[in-house]
This record gives sequence, C-alpha cells and structure tokens, in this order.
Amino acid sequence: MSDIIRLLSDAVANQIAAGEVIQRPASVIKELVENAIDAGATKIQVQLKDAGRTLIQVTDNGKGMSPTDARMAFERHATSKIRDAADLFAIKTMGFRGEALASIASVADVELKTKREDDEVGTFIHIAASEVIKQEETVTATGTSFWVKNLFFNVPARRKFLKSNTTEIKHIITEIQRVAMANPEIAFVLHHNGTPVYDLPASNLRKRIVTIFGNSMNQSLVNVNSETSMAKITGFIGQPKYARRTFGEQFFFVNGRYMKHPFFHRGIMQAYDKILPHEMIPSYFIYFEVDPAAIDINIHPTKTEIKFENESSIWQLLHAAVREGLGKFNVVPSIDFDQSGSIDIPIAPKSTDGLHRPEIEIDPTFNPFEERSYTVKSRGFSSPNEDENLGNWEKLYGTNESEEIEQFSFQPSAESQQTSFIEPQSMVSTEMGRNLITFKNKYILSPVKSGLMVIDQRRAHQRILYEQFMQTLGSHNGVCQQLLFPQTLEINSSDAVLLLSMLDDLTAIGFDIREFGPNTFIVSGLPGILGDTNAKGIIETLLEELKTGASDMKDRAKEKLATSLAVASAVEYGYQLSTEEAGTLIDNLFACETPNYSPSGKPIIEIIKLDEIEKRFK
Ligand code: ADP
Ligand code: MG
Repeated sequence: MSDIIRLLSDAVANQIAAGEVIQRPASVIKELVENAIDAGATKIQVQLKDAGRTLIQVTDNGKGMSPTDARMAFERHATSKIRDAADLFAIKTMGFRGEALASIASVADVELKTKREDDEVGTFIHIAASEVIKQEETVTATGTSFWVKNLFFNVPARRKFLKSNTTEIKHIITEIQRVAMANPEIAFVLHHNGTPVYDLPASNLRKRIVTIFGNSMNQSLVNVNSETSMAKITGFIGQPKYARRTFGEQFFFVNGRYMKHPFFHRGIMQAYDKILPHEMIPSYFIYFEVDPAAIDINIHPTKTEIKFENESSIWQLLHAAVREGLGKFNVVPSIDFDQSGSIDIPIAPKSTDGLHRPEIEIDPTFNPFEERSYTVKSRGFSSPNEDENLGNWEKLYGTNESEEIEQFSFQPSAESQQTSFIEPQSMVSTEMGRNLITFKNKYILSPVKSGLMVIDQRRAHQRILYEQFMQTLGSHNGVCQQLLFPQTLEINSSDAVLLLSMLDDLTAIGFDIREFGPNTFIVSGLPGILGDTNAKGIIETLLEELKTGASDMKDRAKEKLATSLAVASAVEYGYQLSTEEAGTLIDNLFACETPNYSPSGKPIIEIIKLDEIEKRFK
C-alpha cells in the first residue's frame, strides 16, 4: 500500500488559517488597520463598498515597504515584528503572527501599493487566491494602500455565511471604534458607499470619546488615574446618573489593545456598588499600561481576552482608582442646574439691593435609587393603575404617618420631619390626595414630606413615553395610525442603512415605513400614541440621534430609538398642562421604573428642602 500523507499547498494552508483569522469584512479591516498602526501611521482611511463585500480599501501614511518586503508580507509566517520566541513575551505591536496578509490574500483579490519615504518609486502587487498576478513599480504616496476585493470569492460557503450589510457594518463600526479609542492621536476616516460614517481628527482621549459617543458624554466623564510599578491605569468612568441598562460604552485597553476582561469589569461594578441600581451599567474607558512581559496576548488571533500575571493585584488597583474617581466627583458641593432646569422663584421686594438669586443646596450624597420601593412596571400614560405604588405615594407625601417614611422620603433632616408645612389655598387636590400647581408652564410643584418637590414637565413626559416605547418594543404591540397622505423620505445611504436596521423595531412600535427604491422610504403610518406629529421630522430627528453617540448599536438601538422618539414627541415647555393632566403625569412618572432621570440622563425631580425654605425666612 502506498503512503497517503501529503503536505498541503500554501494556498490551501493559508485558506485554512484564513478560516480562523478572517471571518468577515470586519476582520480584514481590523488586521489592515492594525498593520497601519504598527507602521506608525498618523492617518488611516477606510473605504467600503457593500459593507466590505465588494471592496475594502485601507490607506495609511505609515512607513511603507520595500519591494521585497511587499512581496514577502503575503507569505505565511512572514513578519517584521518578532524574530524569535523570546520576543513573544515582549510584544509591543498589534500584530506578530505574520498570517493576516497571507490569509486575506488566499480568500480575496488583493492589490497593494506601497512606498517608503526615501524611495522614489513605490511597488504595486496584485495577488488573488494566493497567486501573484502582477508586481511592478508604481507612482504612489509614502505609506501603504490595500484594496481587498470580492472577499471570499473562492469560498462560496463563507460568502453565503455573511450576514446582512447592516450586520456587517455594525461589526466594522465596532472594530473601528475600538481601534479609534485605543489611538486617539491617530486620525481615522470611514466611508461606506461613498458616504462618510466617521471622520475622527487626531485629538486627545476625552475629545475622541465625545466625538464617538456624543456630547452628553462630556458632562459624564470622570478622570481615573493611578500609577504603581505594577500598572498604570488611566482613563475615564461615567457618573452614576448617566449609567444605562445596556452595554456598549464599556472599554478596557491594555498597552493600546482593546480587551475584554469580565473579572476587571466586576471590579468596576463593585466600585459603583450602592450608588447604582443593580441593573444599570456605568460607562468606562480604562487604559492599562503594563510591562508586556506581564501579560499574555498570545491566546488566539481573534480573541480579545488577555491574561494578566498579577490579575488580583491589578483588580485591587482598578477598584481603588475607580472609587477614588467617584469620590472626587461626590464631594462636589451642589448639583448645577442647567439652563433649562434652573428655578426662577419670584421674590417680592421692589428694590433689587441685596437681592440674591436663590441658591438651592442639594445633598450630593442623595441617592434616589437607594431602597427605592416604588419600582413598578411601566404602563400607559392615561391609565394609571392604583396598586402598591399608591402606598408609596402616601409615604412620599407623608399622609401615612408610618414608620417607613424615613426610608422613602428623600433624606429629610430630623427637624424637617417635625415641622409642618402650610399649604397654599391655590393648590389643587388630585384624586390621589396630592396638592400640585403648574408653574410657568414648565414645572409642576407639589409639597412633599421633606420640602417642595419640583418636577420638570417635559422631562417627566419624556421618561413616561420612553418607558412605554421600550415596552412596546419588547411586546411588538404598537398601534399604528395610518396617515392620510403618506410621506416620501429621501435620505443619504448611511442613514438608509441605519433606518433599514431599525425598521423591525419601528414597526413594532407602530410605524408603517417601507423601502421605496434606493435611499427612499414611504412613511404611511405613525404610532397612535404620537398623535398628530410631523412624521418626516420625527424620523429625521431620530436618525440624527441615532448617529450622534451611537456606540455599540446592536445593544443600544432600542434604547436610542425609544429615547429619540420620546424626545421628539414629549410635551414642550410652554404647554399649559391642565390640573388633571399634571396629576396623571405625576402618577405615570412615579409608575416608571426610573422616575428620577429623563431618558437622556437629566434630572426630572428636585426637592427644595424645607430647611432651605425656612432658612430664607430667618
Ligand atoms: P503581522 O502584522 O503579524 O506581522 P501581517 O501578515 O499582518 O503580519 O503583515 C506582515 C508584514 O507586512 C508585517 O510584519 C509588516 O512588516 C508588513 N506590513 C503589513 N502591512 C503594512 C503596512 N500598512 N505598512 C507597512 N508594513 C506593513
Ligand atoms: Mg498584522
């Protein structure tokens, strides 16, 4: 019998390697962008066609390659980054395996143009399915450009396995975000089908985070800084009140490389213990710098887990650094009301001498979530149920003098509980036994046990709508109201990609939107709950909201959709609520899961403490 074992050809071996390393367009982009970073680029441009199926082009202004290196780069195990096994324990580059280009060239049609600064002419190479088709001199700028065309053209099973363009784009955006966050000093540009998706100028970390995740991040970020001989930990954490229910803004990096680290994640979560309700997740952007010999990145080419030598000590450092950051933030003496939230209390004296704008001191340690006992599933705006949260209302208002008052009321001081508060005649009693007054068509005022509660009407309505939208999104029972005149919506292609990805959810809420030719949509129905609203306007605002600050869109899509719809459709300031409406609004607000903050994280409820009011009369 003859021998049957044979060595595989390079092309086949490379294809097998590609099966591991190159799973989808996003993996190609990750590898090419990491190579550009290793080559010292300060600007990296990525252009895609059809979510990378047809074309992925990555251009950098890095150090380029010599003609021989350019050809060698496509060989399996060809790398300039390590030489021997010892180097594996001191890796400072993103790549080191020398298999990415060989893998990519085995499953696609690849062209390369590259030139070093001191060379007069550059090199052009065309390789398809591991076969060199052409190599010649070419005129090109310093740096390197790759064109990867028709990915998986020779692996039909793989090509078929690719998901929708929307899904592939999401994976690509995730990769670009990670690498952009790890390298804020490098400029990144991402275009899809000719439309810009990201244009990130070189900047500092804070600016980079804000450019990617939106302006609201700016107020939320708190510095983290800790330096020991074992590790340097820097970056930002989000303030508790900006925390969300979903993942998407949690990032760890080690020596410039994105990583997942569930153990360290728990360290951060524990640092937030007691200042965050259980289901909320704070954002964080944490950068570790450690001796490369103290970590093992050699686990798997596509895995993002990294093993640390001193894991538990670093856990302690991280935990302490986050607590310190949070502590610094907590000692801020008072909450700054933003412009729209500032309280304009009219004071009688005619002479303005010695007249001070009222200052409200707020207990910075006040935690609205602590021992909150009124958590009730969200429900409709117009049909408040009376169940256990009614009891809580009584506690808040102090009509039920039970022992539990202290637990619920907003941390009143001892004496304020004893003092009774005289309620003005003009206040109206609602069925639930509360007194309330609408104020400046902007606030609802109501006395509570510990002082005067001020509720922002628009933000309260946003919160109610938000929770309602979130619920219909989950249950798919949104009621659609057909428009008399369907509207045509023409948008650019990256917006179209976004909108398409939201269509199912929008339908669940009660929208009737259909694709009608390229980048054109017909809106024929709106959710009944929105009433008579400008359909086009809502969708445009929605797309804008979704783009700015879109993080891991997969996780936050529903939340963002609900937020922007709520923002687009809540009652405006200046709208005069009737007493009944104000009452219902308050009832529904407190039936919400998170009544204290608007969906975009702004305070809805403030309490002017009785002590404060009394101080003014002394
Ligand atoms: P690795 O990055 O693991 O070394 P790759 O297959 O990704 O392996 O790349 C092989 C080699 O090609 C690299 O080591 C590097 O020398 C060279 N190379 C790849 N991309 C670039 C680039 N954009 N600029 C300069 N050199 C590059
Ligand atoms: Mg590489």
